[in-house]
Amino acid sequence: MKKSIFIFIDAMGWELMKKHDFLKKEMPIRNASKMQFGYSSTAIPTILTGKKPSEHGQFSYYYHDKNNSPFNNIWFKMLRLLPSSITERGRVRSYISKLAKFFFGYTGYFQIYSMPLDRITHFNYSEKKDLFQPGAFKEVDSIFDYLKEKGINYFRTDWRKNEVDAFQNFKETLTKPHQFYFLYFAELDGVQHKETKEGASVPGRLELYKERIQEIMQTLDEQGDEYRISVVSDHGMTTLTSEFDLKEVIDRTGLEFGRDYISCFDSTMLRLWFLNLDAKKVIIKALGDVKEGSILSEEELERFGIDFEGQKYGELFFLMKPGVQIVPSDMCKISFPGMHGYTPDHKDSDASFLANFEPRKKPEWVGDFFNVMKEMADWSKT
Ligand SMILES: [Zn+2]
Repeated sequence: MKKSIFIFIDAMGWELMKKHDFLKKEMPIRNASKMQFGYSSTAIPTILTGKKPSEHGQFSYYYHDKNNSPFNNIWFKMLRLLPSSITERGRVRSYISKLAKFFFGYTGYFQIYSMPLDRITHFNYSEKKDLFQPGAFKEVDSIFDYLKEKGINYFRTDWRKNEVDAFQNFKETLTKPHQFYFLYFAELDGVQHKETKEGASVPGRLELYKERIQEIMQTLDEQGDEYRISVVSDHGMTTLTSEFDLKEVIDRTGLEFGRDYISCFDSTMLRLWFLNLDAKKVIIKALGDVKEGSILSEEELERFGIDFEGQKYGELFFLMKPGVQIVPSDMCKISFPGMHGYTPDHKDSDASFLANFEPRKKPEWVGDFFNVMKEMADWSKT
């Protein structure tokens, strides 16, 4: 029978593909694809729907929405009474995240990261639902809605499982009559955050993926199946060049969080909402002196697809130069050897597309993978 296998390897950037001989013979159709500006919280929805963030509605995890904040409850207030030496520990935060996810009933990816507990009550959380399920997006359809609507028999790995188990589960389904497979492997991202893309474990990790994919192809060949297979990523990885304390710049203005402005410090960008006009002027002036980054222009907001209605995810975005990490940020107190979330115009941001077939349209941007998936699913149905 005909089978289509779509494999998503987080952070398998084009720069890695240039350096390593990764499935060149098996997948001769290959190109760099432009990253969607943002993090996985933006890239995954863009790949699954083929739409810009301003259309599918997902961007960073936290956005200013004090009136509807899920964190404005007695539990989070009580946590604030504990000493910060406890509540700022990574393990404690991961435990709080797990508990909160359970109590809120969220099915998506949920983490409180290093969000300050006295500020988190000003925010709402964007990824409450599991994005890999049909009906995950309010305004637009994802590939899983499409597969369901067309009655295409599909299998996808569970992103909550470790890769070895997920791959094992997947292999057992190869003999079954599934027409479309969606595999998601996230561990290469973690490895590169820890070691960056030149890290010692990276070649071994790529070798492992290569062996897994060759194994899939061999099984399908032996079964006599006709198949289309594609391997893609959402972004690359940029090596740390320096840390920058952007919080200190904002603190130095003497303005007050919650009275004058609301800020969310992601690892590579600061997003701001202003509560009065004076604060806006003062902060724009202070940021103007920071040479390690710049305020995104209207043109960039539009080009990156983040010109949200109602400026939901920020009235002003300050983006660091490639390699500069905001330390401390609301995501992490320390820097990592590798990070992503810089301008998509930089080569280290580039994602990859590899396939054993020529798609109708070359995927120039990661959102184009949506149409490639549709094309693959339609093909397996014929
Ligand atoms: Zn990452």
